[in-house]
Amino acid sequence: MKKLCFATNNANKLAEIRKALEGQYEVQGLKEIGCNEELPETQDTLEGNSLQKAQYVWDNYGVSCFADDTGLEVEALEGAPGVYSARYAGEHGDSEANMTLVLKNMEGASNRKAQFRTVITLIMDGEKHQFEGAVKGSLRQERSGSEGFGYDPIFEPEGYSVTFAEMSIEDKNVISHRGRAVRKLMDFLKKG
Ligand code: IMP
Repeated sequence: MKKLCFATNNANKLAEIRKALEGQYEVQGLKEIGCNEELPETQDTLEGNSLQKAQYVWDNYGVSCFADDTGLEVEALEGAPGVYSARYAGEHGDSEANMTLVLKNMEGASNRKAQFRTVITLIMDGEKHQFEGAVKGSLRQERSGSEGFGYDPIFEPEGYSVTFAEMSIEDKNVISHRGRAVRKLMDFLKKG
């Protein structure tokens, strides 16, 4: 079976993709290809960061691979936190502090439109392909719900009256940024 590396250390993301590509690709995590170092992620766009991570694996390990990068883009904050979503309130990557800071920076803003966007870069035998998934919505004034992670408690997807943190993982996956980007990647891989 063809091997493909998913350049992530997130066990949940890895399990999800493995299941989706079962029987078609043997999906390996970073540890399985012998990569134990932190991947570089120093670009200022989601496209740049996902490419940088995939390129690093291709250049240093010579295996076909893909990497993802996600951000919350808030209109009234000119697209912030965007590529800096994980560390908006500091390097420690604390979701509570990140949400608190977004809500604080949004005080008094009447436009509460936001979107989550994911970019996946695949490098297959040296050729690059990018896939994007996005979900539009708006930011609540307060947190609601306990499912999910990150900014889920303050994000209400368009057409719904609940936050991502009030949806099941299955329901969220159908409409989410990552779900959409992953399905585009899978459609492409299934053709190959
Ligand atoms: P990553 O690129 O998937 O690591 O995502 C970067 C950051 O965006 C995470 O640390 C979260 O703060 C945020 N994020 C990514 N995906 C989601 C999501 O589905 N819900 C809420 N926050 C998310």
